[in-house]
Amino acid sequence: MPTIFSKIINKEIPANIVYEDDLVVAFLDISQATKGHTLVVPREPFQNIFEIPEALAAHVFLVATKLATSIKSAFQADGMNILSNNGEVAGQTVFHFHLHLIPRYDKEELKFPLKNNMGNLSPEEYKERARLIRAALL
Ligand code: AMP
Repeated sequence: MPTIFSKIINKEIPANIVYEDDLVVAFLDISQATKGHTLVVPREPFQNIFEIPEALAAHVFLVATKLATSIKSAFQADGMNILSNNGEVAGQTVFHFHLHLIPRYDKEELKFPLKNNMGNLSPEEYKERARLIRAALL
């Protein structure tokens, strides 16, 4: 079933897109767990890791690998958490498979599961973060 991510992918609602190709779209998570928190999402709405074809999962991870380097360099992050919640019991809230790229600056800044940080940033700040990531893409 289509989720809010399909609306973003189909450009029906806005998002701060940092990368897209034929198979995946990556955009800033609206709840910036840390500066530069990005989601990598296949265009096709497979619900979770149990549904997604292996070749597509490999491409999602390839894009995540490139973006991880760009995000780290854009914000001078010291590390990165890459995670995926699969199934409600695992904390998934949007049932369209995605990887979270969460740059890390400090050991104490985050606790898992992530809390919701929505509403803390201005639209201009989101735009600037997305611009910096796109500029750092190789
Ligand atoms: P999960 O809980 O792992 O399914 O992650 C879903 C993520 O989607 C959460 O981190 C949300 O903050 C994020 N999210 C929900 N709606 C939007 C949106 N409209 N734009 C960007 N990120 C969103």
